[in-house]
Amino acid sequence: ASVAEELITPPVQITYTQNLINGQFVDAASGKNFPTYDPRTGEVIAHVAEGDAEDINRAVAAARKAFDEGPWPKMTAYERSRILLRFADLVEKNTEELAALESWNNGKPYEQAAQAELPMLARLFRYYAGWADKIHGLTVPADGDYHVQTLHEPIGVAGQIIPWNFPLLMFAWKVGPALACGNTVVLKTAEQTPLTALYAAKLFHEAGLPPGVLNIVSGFGPTAGAALASHMDVDKLAFTGSTDTGKIVLELAARSNLKPVTLELGGKSPFIVCEDADIDRAVELAHFALFFNQGQCCCAGSRTYVHERIYDEFIEKSKARATRRVVGDPFKKGVEQGPQIDAEQFDKVLRYIRSGIQSNATLECGGDRLGSKGYFIQPTVFSNVQDDMLIAKDEIFGPVQSILKFKDIDDVIRRANTTRYGLAAGVFTRSLDTANTLTRALRAGTIWVNCFDVFDAAIPFGGYKMSGIGREKGIYSLHNYLQVKAVVTPLKKAAW
Ligand code: ADP
Repeated sequence: ASVAEELITPPVQITYTQNLINGQFVDAASGKNFPTYDPRTGEVIAHVAEGDAEDINRAVAAARKAFDEGPWPKMTAYERSRILLRFADLVEKNTEELAALESWNNGKPYEQAAQAELPMLARLFRYYAGWADKIHGLTVPADGDYHVQTLHEPIGVAGQIIPWNFPLLMFAWKVGPALACGNTVVLKTAEQTPLTALYAAKLFHEAGLPPGVLNIVSGFGPTAGAALASHMDVDKLAFTGSTDTGKIVLELAARSNLKPVTLELGGKSPFIVCEDADIDRAVELAHFALFFNQGQCCCAGSRTYVHERIYDEFIEKSKARATRRVVGDPFKKGVEQGPQIDAEQFDKVLRYIRSGIQSNATLECGGDRLGSKGYFIQPTVFSNVQDDMLIAKDEIFGPVQSILKFKDIDDVIRRANTTRYGLAAGVFTRSLDTANTLTRALRAGTIWVNCFDVFDAAIPFGGYKMSGIGREKGIYSLHNYLQVKAVVTPLKKAAW
């Protein structure tokens, strides 16, 4: 891949490293800190307060008080809406700083963060600001002489645990609907990427958010994360991460206070290219579907199924595209791919590449690390992949495209659905009948037809099967953060 040279130099500095509890930046109760890294080099860029069970206790107490005593759920919905809107404005004002911090701590291209992710962050908060004052109950036509209505109330203190692949967008998907509905929040960031949520939460307070409404704790999963999932005073849990950890937090929630849980977990999404597809466009989007964000997307199109009649051409073009992919310093102009997040993920991806080679898939390009420093991996394409190979079954979460050949629609439907996951699928065809047939047959929470990775605040996202429970974004996410109260009142017959 050619290397872009021009360096972009946005303002970047690390100001917030303590936990944000009750509107104040505070050290961890234990006084401990942990390092956070630059994935370009593996060097430490800051030390961050290491929250554990005690910090979660303090954050939950603050959120509890802000919920029970107000002001948040007691403010008018319009006032809440305006704070969300002011926050969105501040996100826009601070786009360069936030994007630079996101890129520095995560390794994603700065241009991707600044031009795509930050606008989506602001858009999502404006979308939920719009909902805040449009949450209605129903009047219910019950049998008998009763006046019956439902009140849609906030559920209380929401505990939220997010991953490292889209630190700011995951913050938005969780915090936006929770706050719009009048809940208070304790959010635990991923240990790899603690910085941007602290910055964003600081902006939220500048926008007028009362103390205690949004608390951010940095720390590790088995300590801080587990304490949040099992806390008796947390009324709802939302989690995004791996399927294995999802099972753990669901169990912790059940064993403690049965708090309802939404889970957004792993995937192994099929990307199906039919023989009548626009091949060049399908090649480009299949490439994007897999390699976007260094391949670190839960919905990555990680099984590229191609019809046998166009298979050879598709392989050649996919290989050429991957070879052209610009990998390098995420702060350089035109860079499409930065480093993987950390040494653990880097090693894991390289292990899967070796497994693909050993299982006799054909390595078309890539196959190794890039350079000798940091966590860069060459864009890698395997052809002749079989369904039972590990690279076709497991979530790799890296820049490794697996291309499989199929014969006909029935064959590909059966094979695409033979997975424990069901997060997303891509369908490429010019035939409406084929598109409709596949759309109905595929068991996945999102089907992108002749497109991929279209994320909009209004479009729900979530998984079938072991890809999760529930939906985020859109109107669906509101249900995650509301309780329904039925109010039944006898009518005086004579009155009507
Ligand atoms: P990944 O493999 O993408 O790092 P994880 O599921 O391990 O995914 O991490 C996602 C989030 O879950 C992170 O914030 C992490 O700290 C948290 N986490 C990990 N283990 C646990 C646990 N045992 N209990 C609660 N949260 C956890």
